[in-house]
Amino acid sequence: MATASSSPPAVSGGSAATDSETLRKNQILSSKLYFDVPLTKVPVIYSSSYDIAFLGIEKLHPFDSSKWGRVRGFLIRDGVLDKKRTVEPVEASKDDLLVVHSESYLNSLKSSLNVSIIVEVPPVALLPNCLVQKKVLYPFRMQVGGTVLAAKLAKERGWAINLGGGFHHCSAESGGGFCVYADISLCIHYAFVRLNISRVMIIDLDAHQGNGHEMDFANDSRVYILDMYNPEIYPRDFVARRHINQRVEIVSGTRTDEYLKQLDKALEVAGHMFDPELVVYNAGTDILDGDPLGLLKVSPDGITSRDEKVFRFAKEKSIPIVMLTSGGYMKSSARVIADSIVNLSKKSLIDLEKAPVKI
Ligand SMILES: [Zn+2]
Repeated sequence: MATASSSPPAVSGGSAATDSETLRKNQILSSKLYFDVPLTKVPVIYSSSYDIAFLGIEKLHPFDSSKWGRVRGFLIRDGVLDKKRTVEPVEASKDDLLVVHSESYLNSLKSSLNVSIIVEVPPVALLPNCLVQKKVLYPFRMQVGGTVLAAKLAKERGWAINLGGGFHHCSAESGGGFCVYADISLCIHYAFVRLNISRVMIIDLDAHQGNGHEMDFANDSRVYILDMYNPEIYPRDFVARRHINQRVEIVSGTRTDEYLKQLDKALEVAGHMFDPELVVYNAGTDILDGDPLGLLKVSPDGITSRDEKVFRFAKEKSIPIVMLTSGGYMKSSARVIADSIVNLSKKSLIDLEKAPVKI
Protein backbone atom coordinates (compact mmCIF):
# COMPACT_ATOMS: atom_id res chain seq x y z
CA MET A 1 0.00 0.00 0.00
CA ALA A 2 1.22 3.46 -0.83
CA THR A 3 1.98 5.89 1.94
CA ALA A 4 1.91 9.63 1.51
CA SER A 5 4.11 11.39 4.00
CA SER A 6 3.54 14.91 2.70
CA SER A 7 0.61 17.24 3.28
CA PRO A 8 -2.37 17.27 0.86
CA PRO A 9 -1.97 19.25 -2.35
CA ALA A 10 -2.33 22.99 -2.08
CA VAL A 11 -5.42 24.65 -3.50
CA SER A 12 -4.67 26.14 -6.90
CA GLY A 13 -3.88 29.83 -6.89
CA GLY A 14 -5.21 30.15 -10.42
CA SER A 15 -2.02 30.75 -12.39
CA ALA A 16 -0.97 28.27 -15.08
CA ALA A 17 2.23 27.49 -13.20
CA THR A 18 0.37 26.77 -9.97
CA ASP A 19 -2.17 24.62 -11.83
CA SER A 20 0.53 22.49 -13.39
CA GLU A 21 2.35 22.21 -10.06
CA THR A 22 -0.89 21.08 -8.37
CA LEU A 23 -1.55 18.56 -11.14
CA ARG A 24 1.98 17.18 -10.78
CA LYS A 25 1.58 16.90 -7.02
CA ASN A 26 -1.75 15.09 -7.37
CA GLN A 27 -0.27 12.67 -9.90
CA ILE A 28 2.59 11.90 -7.54
CA LEU A 29 0.29 11.45 -4.55
CA SER A 30 -1.97 9.01 -6.42
CA SER A 31 0.91 7.00 -7.94
CA LYS A 32 1.43 3.31 -7.23
CA LEU A 33 5.21 3.53 -7.70
CA TYR A 34 5.70 4.04 -3.97
CA PHE A 35 4.65 1.03 -1.94
CA ASP A 36 5.65 -0.39 1.40
CA VAL A 37 8.46 -2.92 1.27
CA PRO A 38 8.77 -5.40 4.16
CA LEU A 39 11.98 -5.39 6.18
CA THR A 40 12.65 -8.96 5.10
CA LYS A 41 13.70 -7.51 1.73
CA VAL A 42 16.98 -5.71 1.10
CA PRO A 43 16.85 -2.43 -0.83
CA VAL A 44 18.27 -3.91 -4.03
CA ILE A 45 15.70 -3.36 -6.76
CA TYR A 46 15.38 -5.52 -9.84
CA SER A 47 12.86 -7.22 -12.09
CA SER A 48 13.52 -9.83 -14.77
CA SER A 49 11.50 -7.46 -16.99
CA TYR A 50 14.49 -5.06 -17.00
CA ASP A 51 16.38 -7.15 -19.52
CA ILE A 52 15.94 -6.45 -23.21
CA ALA A 53 16.64 -9.35 -25.52
CA PHE A 54 14.64 -10.02 -28.66
CA LEU A 55 15.29 -10.30 -32.35
CA GLY A 56 18.97 -9.99 -31.65
CA ILE A 57 18.62 -6.34 -30.50
CA GLU A 58 21.25 -7.00 -27.89
CA LYS A 59 23.74 -7.74 -30.64
CA LEU A 60 22.97 -4.57 -32.58
CA HIS A 61 23.96 -2.16 -29.86
CA PRO A 62 27.18 -2.03 -27.86
CA PHE A 63 25.03 -1.88 -24.74
CA ASP A 64 24.81 -5.16 -22.85
CA SER A 65 21.03 -5.16 -22.65
CA SER A 66 20.94 -8.01 -20.14
CA LYS A 67 23.55 -6.42 -17.86
CA TRP A 68 21.02 -5.81 -15.10
CA GLY A 69 20.05 -9.46 -14.70
CA ARG A 70 23.67 -10.56 -14.92
CA VAL A 71 24.63 -8.27 -12.00
CA ARG A 72 21.92 -9.86 -9.88
CA GLY A 73 22.97 -13.33 -11.04
CA PHE A 74 26.58 -12.72 -9.94
CA LEU A 75 25.45 -11.45 -6.53
CA ILE A 76 23.28 -14.52 -6.01
CA ARG A 77 25.97 -16.92 -7.21
CA ASP A 78 28.51 -15.21 -4.95
CA GLY A 79 26.19 -15.92 -2.04
CA VAL A 80 25.86 -12.28 -1.01
CA LEU A 81 22.27 -11.78 -2.12
CA ASP A 82 19.26 -14.00 -1.58
CA LYS A 83 17.11 -13.85 -4.70
CA LYS A 84 13.92 -13.80 -2.64
CA ARG A 85 15.04 -10.67 -0.87
CA THR A 86 15.37 -8.30 -3.84
CA VAL A 87 12.58 -5.80 -4.43
CA GLU A 88 10.48 -5.91 -7.59
CA PRO A 89 9.22 -2.49 -8.67
CA VAL A 90 6.07 -1.70 -10.64
CA GLU A 91 5.92 -0.23 -14.11
CA ALA A 92 5.71 3.56 -14.42
CA SER A 93 2.29 4.35 -15.88
CA LYS A 94 1.54 7.12 -18.35
CA ASP A 95 0.30 9.32 -15.49
CA ASP A 96 3.52 8.66 -13.60
CA LEU A 97 5.60 9.67 -16.61
CA LEU A 98 3.52 12.82 -17.11
CA VAL A 99 4.93 14.12 -13.82
CA VAL A 100 7.99 15.12 -15.86
CA HIS A 101 7.29 14.36 -19.52
CA SER A 102 4.89 16.21 -21.78
CA GLU A 103 2.01 14.46 -23.52
CA SER A 104 3.63 15.33 -26.86
CA TYR A 105 6.92 13.68 -25.91
CA LEU A 106 5.16 10.49 -24.79
CA ASN A 107 3.11 10.53 -28.02
CA SER A 108 6.32 10.77 -30.03
CA LEU A 109 7.26 7.34 -28.60
CA LYS A 110 4.35 5.82 -30.53
CA SER A 111 6.61 6.13 -33.56
CA SER A 112 8.99 3.18 -33.87
CA LEU A 113 11.29 5.44 -35.87
CA ASN A 114 11.59 7.92 -33.00
CA VAL A 115 12.31 5.12 -30.53
CA SER A 116 14.89 3.60 -32.86
CA ILE A 117 16.74 6.93 -32.95
CA ILE A 118 16.75 7.28 -29.16
CA VAL A 119 17.97 3.72 -28.51
CA GLU A 120 20.33 3.87 -31.50
CA VAL A 121 19.16 0.58 -32.96
CA PRO A 122 17.98 1.37 -36.53
CA PRO A 123 16.08 -1.93 -37.13
CA VAL A 124 13.65 -0.99 -34.34
CA ALA A 125 12.17 1.53 -36.81
CA LEU A 126 10.86 -1.37 -38.89
CA LEU A 127 8.93 -2.98 -36.04
CA PRO A 128 5.24 -2.41 -35.29
CA ASN A 129 4.91 -0.05 -32.36
CA CYS A 130 3.06 -2.61 -30.20
CA LEU A 131 6.18 -4.76 -30.29
CA VAL A 132 8.42 -1.78 -29.54
CA GLN A 133 6.22 -0.89 -26.57
CA LYS A 134 6.33 -4.41 -25.17
CA LYS A 135 9.93 -5.38 -25.83
CA VAL A 136 11.82 -2.09 -25.57
CA LEU A 137 9.77 0.52 -23.73
CA TYR A 138 8.15 -1.72 -21.11
CA PRO A 139 11.54 -2.81 -19.68
CA PHE A 140 12.55 0.85 -19.43
CA ARG A 141 9.29 1.76 -17.69
CA MET A 142 9.97 -0.99 -15.16
CA GLN A 143 13.43 0.45 -14.54
CA VAL A 144 11.90 3.90 -14.07
CA GLY A 145 9.60 2.37 -11.43
CA GLY A 146 12.73 0.98 -9.76
CA THR A 147 14.54 4.32 -9.68
CA VAL A 148 11.52 6.14 -8.23
CA LEU A 149 11.00 3.51 -5.53
CA ALA A 150 14.72 3.56 -4.69
CA ALA A 151 14.43 7.04 -3.15
CA LYS A 152 11.69 5.87 -0.77
CA LEU A 153 13.74 2.85 0.27
CA ALA A 154 16.88 4.96 0.67
CA LYS A 155 15.03 7.33 2.98
CA GLU A 156 13.83 4.39 5.08
CA ARG A 157 16.98 2.26 5.05
CA GLY A 158 19.81 4.69 4.35
CA TRP A 159 20.60 3.32 0.91
CA ALA A 160 19.04 1.63 -2.11
CA ILE A 161 20.47 0.26 -5.33
CA ASN A 162 18.41 -0.01 -8.49
CA LEU A 163 20.21 -2.55 -10.67
CA GLY A 164 18.92 -0.61 -13.68
CA GLY A 165 18.04 3.01 -14.44
CA GLY A 166 20.27 6.05 -14.72
CA PHE A 167 18.91 7.33 -18.04
CA HIS A 168 20.66 10.63 -17.68
CA HIS A 169 20.44 11.82 -21.29
CA CYS A 170 16.65 12.01 -21.24
CA SER A 171 14.92 15.22 -20.21
CA ALA A 172 11.23 16.13 -20.08
CA GLU A 173 11.07 16.91 -23.78
CA SER A 174 13.84 14.92 -25.36
CA GLY A 175 15.33 11.42 -25.28
CA GLY A 176 18.72 10.33 -26.61
CA GLY A 177 21.75 8.12 -26.08
CA PHE A 178 19.72 5.00 -25.18
CA CYS A 179 17.69 6.99 -22.62
CA VAL A 180 13.93 7.06 -23.29
CA TYR A 181 12.55 8.19 -19.92
CA ALA A 182 13.93 10.73 -17.43
CA ASP A 183 14.03 8.41 -14.42
CA ILE A 184 16.38 10.62 -12.39
CA SER A 185 14.13 13.68 -12.75
CA LEU A 186 11.08 11.57 -11.89
CA CYS A 187 12.78 10.08 -8.84
CA ILE A 188 13.63 13.54 -7.51
CA HIS A 189 10.18 15.04 -8.10
CA TYR A 190 8.60 12.09 -6.27
CA ALA A 191 11.05 12.56 -3.40
CA PHE A 192 10.18 16.26 -3.15
CA VAL A 193 6.48 15.48 -2.71
CA ARG A 194 6.36 12.10 -0.99
CA LEU A 195 9.45 12.26 1.21
CA ASN A 196 9.31 15.92 2.25
CA ILE A 197 12.78 16.40 0.83
CA SER A 198 13.86 19.77 -0.51
CA ARG A 199 17.58 19.37 -1.29
CA VAL A 200 18.95 16.66 -3.57
CA MET A 201 22.50 16.14 -4.82
CA ILE A 202 23.04 14.31 -8.09
CA ILE A 203 26.51 12.76 -8.32
CA ASP A 204 26.83 11.71 -11.93
CA LEU A 205 29.97 9.66 -12.52
CA ASP A 206 28.95 7.98 -15.77
CA ALA A 207 31.53 8.76 -18.47
CA HIS A 208 28.98 10.85 -20.36
CA GLN A 209 27.61 14.24 -19.38
CA GLY A 210 24.16 13.94 -17.76
CA ASN A 211 22.45 16.51 -19.94
CA GLY A 212 18.90 15.22 -19.28
CA HIS A 213 18.68 15.97 -15.56
CA GLU A 214 20.78 19.09 -16.11
CA MET A 215 18.10 20.54 -18.40
CA ASP A 216 15.25 19.39 -16.14
CA PHE A 217 16.72 21.05 -13.05
CA ALA A 218 18.22 24.09 -14.75
CA ASN A 219 18.05 26.99 -12.28
CA ASP A 220 16.38 24.82 -9.63
CA SER A 221 18.29 25.59 -6.43
CA ARG A 222 16.86 22.48 -4.73
CA VAL A 223 19.16 20.30 -6.83
CA TYR A 224 22.97 20.37 -6.79
CA ILE A 225 24.65 18.58 -9.67
CA LEU A 226 28.20 17.24 -9.56
CA ASP A 227 29.02 15.82 -12.98
CA MET A 228 32.38 14.22 -13.83
CA TYR A 229 32.42 13.36 -17.51
CA ASN A 230 34.53 13.08 -20.62
CA PRO A 231 33.86 16.31 -22.57
CA GLU A 232 35.18 14.79 -25.80
CA ILE A 233 32.34 12.29 -26.23
CA TYR A 234 28.52 12.36 -26.59
CA PRO A 235 26.45 14.43 -25.89
CA ARG A 236 28.64 17.58 -25.92
CA ASP A 237 25.61 19.52 -24.69
CA PHE A 238 26.99 23.00 -24.06
CA VAL A 239 23.63 24.45 -23.03
CA ALA A 240 23.11 21.78 -20.36
CA ARG A 241 26.69 22.24 -19.12
CA ARG A 242 25.77 25.71 -17.91
CA HIS A 243 23.44 24.10 -15.37
CA ILE A 244 26.03 21.87 -13.69
CA ASN A 245 26.95 23.17 -10.24
CA GLN A 246 30.31 21.43 -10.18
CA ARG A 247 31.75 20.40 -13.51
CA VAL A 248 34.75 18.08 -13.58
CA GLU A 249 35.95 17.33 -17.07
CA ILE A 250 37.96 14.13 -17.45
CA VAL A 251 39.69 13.83 -20.81
CA SER A 252 40.01 10.62 -22.85
CA GLY A 253 42.70 8.29 -21.56
CA THR A 254 42.51 9.44 -17.91
CA ARG A 255 43.76 6.67 -15.63
CA THR A 256 42.56 5.37 -12.29
CA ASP A 257 44.79 7.35 -9.90
CA GLU A 258 44.11 10.66 -11.56
CA TYR A 259 40.38 9.91 -11.77
CA LEU A 260 40.13 9.07 -8.08
CA LYS A 261 42.17 12.14 -7.12
CA GLN A 262 39.75 14.35 -9.03
CA LEU A 263 36.81 12.57 -7.39
CA ASP A 264 38.21 13.15 -3.88
CA LYS A 265 38.54 16.85 -4.61
CA ALA A 266 35.08 17.05 -6.18
CA LEU A 267 33.36 15.35 -3.26
CA GLU A 268 35.09 17.64 -0.80
CA VAL A 269 33.90 20.70 -2.70
CA ALA A 270 30.36 19.30 -3.06
CA GLY A 271 30.22 18.62 0.69
CA HIS A 272 31.10 22.24 1.42
CA MET A 273 28.78 23.73 -1.16
CA PHE A 274 25.57 21.84 -0.46
CA ASP A 275 23.82 20.01 2.33
CA PRO A 276 21.57 17.43 0.63
CA GLU A 277 18.82 15.30 2.15
CA LEU A 278 19.20 12.71 -0.61
CA VAL A 279 22.05 11.71 -2.94
CA VAL A 280 21.23 10.23 -6.35
CA TYR A 281 24.38 8.51 -7.55
CA ASN A 282 24.56 7.72 -11.24
CA ALA A 283 27.22 5.02 -11.22
CA GLY A 284 27.86 4.29 -14.90
CA THR A 285 30.69 1.84 -15.50
CA ASP A 286 31.59 3.19 -18.94
CA ILE A 287 34.64 4.86 -17.36
CA LEU A 288 36.22 1.38 -17.43
CA ASP A 289 39.42 0.88 -19.41
CA GLY A 290 38.40 -0.57 -22.78
CA ASP A 291 34.86 0.78 -22.86
CA PRO A 292 34.22 1.67 -26.51
CA LEU A 293 32.13 4.75 -25.70
CA GLY A 294 33.62 6.20 -22.50
CA LEU A 295 37.27 6.26 -23.69
CA LEU A 296 38.66 6.47 -20.15
CA LYS A 297 41.12 4.07 -18.52
CA VAL A 298 39.78 3.35 -15.06
CA SER A 299 40.44 -0.17 -13.74
CA PRO A 300 37.83 -2.50 -12.20
CA ASP A 301 39.41 -1.83 -8.77
CA GLY A 302 39.08 1.86 -9.56
CA ILE A 303 35.31 1.43 -9.97
CA THR A 304 35.18 -0.32 -6.59
CA SER A 305 37.10 2.55 -4.96
CA ARG A 306 34.94 5.12 -6.71
CA ASP A 307 31.69 3.61 -5.47
CA GLU A 308 33.13 3.20 -1.98
CA LYS A 309 34.11 6.88 -1.88
CA VAL A 310 30.63 8.02 -2.87
CA PHE A 311 28.88 5.73 -0.40
CA ARG A 312 31.29 6.81 2.35
CA PHE A 313 30.60 10.46 1.49
CA ALA A 314 26.85 9.85 1.99
CA LYS A 315 27.21 7.65 5.06
CA GLU A 316 29.52 10.02 6.93
CA LYS A 317 26.90 12.74 6.56
CA SER A 318 23.96 10.34 7.17
CA ILE A 319 22.46 11.18 3.80
CA PRO A 320 20.27 8.51 2.15
CA ILE A 321 21.82 7.40 -1.14
CA VAL A 322 20.27 5.93 -4.29
CA MET A 323 22.62 4.18 -6.71
CA LEU A 324 21.73 3.60 -10.38
CA THR A 325 23.83 1.48 -12.71
CA SER A 326 23.48 3.68 -15.83
CA GLY A 327 25.95 3.20 -18.74
CA GLY A 328 28.61 0.55 -19.17
CA TYR A 329 29.06 -1.03 -22.53
CA MET A 330 31.28 -4.04 -22.04
CA LYS A 331 30.29 -7.57 -21.10
CA SER A 332 32.65 -7.23 -18.14
CA SER A 333 30.65 -4.33 -16.67
CA ALA A 334 28.17 -6.61 -14.91
CA ARG A 335 30.93 -8.47 -13.05
CA VAL A 336 32.59 -5.18 -12.07
CA ILE A 337 29.30 -3.77 -10.71
CA ALA A 338 28.67 -6.97 -8.72
CA ASP A 339 32.22 -6.89 -7.28
CA SER A 340 31.75 -3.29 -6.26
CA ILE A 341 28.45 -4.06 -4.51
CA VAL A 342 30.15 -6.93 -2.65
CA ASN A 343 32.86 -4.50 -1.55
CA LEU A 344 30.26 -2.00 -0.29
CA SER A 345 28.80 -4.82 1.79
CA LYS A 346 32.21 -5.90 3.14
CA LYS A 347 32.98 -2.34 4.14
CA SER A 348 29.61 -2.14 5.94
CA LEU A 349 28.48 0.71 3.73
CA ILE A 350 25.44 -1.38 2.82
CA ASP A 351 23.96 -4.40 4.55
CA LEU A 352 22.77 -7.24 2.33
CA GLU A 353 22.25 -9.68 5.16
CA LYS A 354 20.48 -8.40 8.22
CA ALA A 355 17.19 -6.55 8.46
CA PRO A 356 18.36 -2.97 7.85
CA VAL A 357 18.23 -0.35 10.52
CA LYS A 358 16.37 2.88 9.89
CA ILE A 359 18.65 5.91 9.95
ZN1 LIG B 1 27.53 6.81 -20.33
